[in-house]
Amino acid sequence: MFVSPRRIQIFDTTLRDGGESPGVALRPQEKAEIAAELERLGVDVVEAGPAGDVEGARAVTAAVTAPAVAVLARAQQHDLDAAAGALAGARRPLVHLVVSTEEETAVRWAVERARAHAAEVQLSVEDATAADSVRVAHLCGLAVEAGATAVGLPDAAGRMLPSVYAAFLADVRRRCPALERVALSAHCHDDLGLAVAGSLAAVEAGAGRVECTVNGIGARAGNASLEELVVALRVRADHFGVETGVDTSRIAAVSRLVARRTGYVVQPNKAIVGANAFAHEAGIHQDGMLKDERTYQIIDPSEVGVRMTLPLGKHSGRHAFAKACAERGIHVSGEELNAAFRRFKALADLGGAVPIDAVFEEVTA
Ligand code: MN
Repeated sequence: MFVSPRRIQIFDTTLRDGGESPGVALRPQEKAEIAAELERLGVDVVEAGPAGDVEGARAVTAAVTAPAVAVLARAQQHDLDAAAGALAGARRPLVHLVVSTEEETAVRWAVERARAHAAEVQLSVEDATAADSVRVAHLCGLAVEAGATAVGLPDAAGRMLPSVYAAFLADVRRRCPALERVALSAHCHDDLGLAVAGSLAAVEAGAGRVECTVNGIGARAGNASLEELVVALRVRADHFGVETGVDTSRIAAVSRLVARRTGYVVQPNKAIVGANAFAHEAGIHQDGMLKDERTYQIIDPSEVGVRMTLPLGKHSGRHAFAKACAERGIHVSGEELNAAFRRFKALADLGGAVPIDAVFEEVTA
């Protein structure tokens, strides 16, 4: 019997939590442009910003059709009014309510109030992982009873180890059976470099929705990186047994757009979207890759919209060097190749990538 994989919802918060990155100020037009690209990527939810950024939310709403559009609101009348105004034109409005464990008495009122304007309401317990799981489970029960369609348990400060976060979510689920009726949402920060690991552990612990950002931007050290998360779930589908609605071939495009609009350059060695994520310079690796691309590559780069490269540098070998020469239309062999390779190595020792032409310029000049 074929069992279809569990569907994990991708809740993108590039525009909201990512928009809170130090120095980032996205204008409504820029939010709309990124939101449209996020829709092409296939995310389930686009969080546009805080309820107060009405203009930003309206621009996002006008730019997308399929994904739900979320705004973040506190359990306060003026925030809920702002959310209603911001989401007025949305096909799938989603109010993302954030309450502290001190606000227990406001939960029912705020969820019902939000549901009056939006078919989807996610109640997130502010800094849930810092609170007692009995108390958190009680709040979750109140939220579901009041009509929340999803519950979020964020690790807002990025303090949790993946296994501890998973155990926390499992504990809350056990104490609150009502959670089985709604989506349980994970939200991890990268203060310990564990945001993606924590989110994957949450999926294993039963989370059906994951909050993440393109390029992992976000407050402080950032959020779980959307591309790493989605590709990990896909490449290791054998382990997770889940699927997302993301078209991974759009990943490179959305990554570049977000980097341009935020000014947050992607580090070269970043997984999936870094310039060197599929670059092999070391001689032994280049040799292996020329024989079989699966040797040192668990991800097919074309699946995420990029190409493998074999840059020539200090660590490259003769095999890759000869191939690069041939591709450049320079056919050398025997002692000629050996001499050219020695010149290449001498240039490479100075550091940086070595263009093929530079190796031959030296002799002709
Ligand atoms: Mn956050």
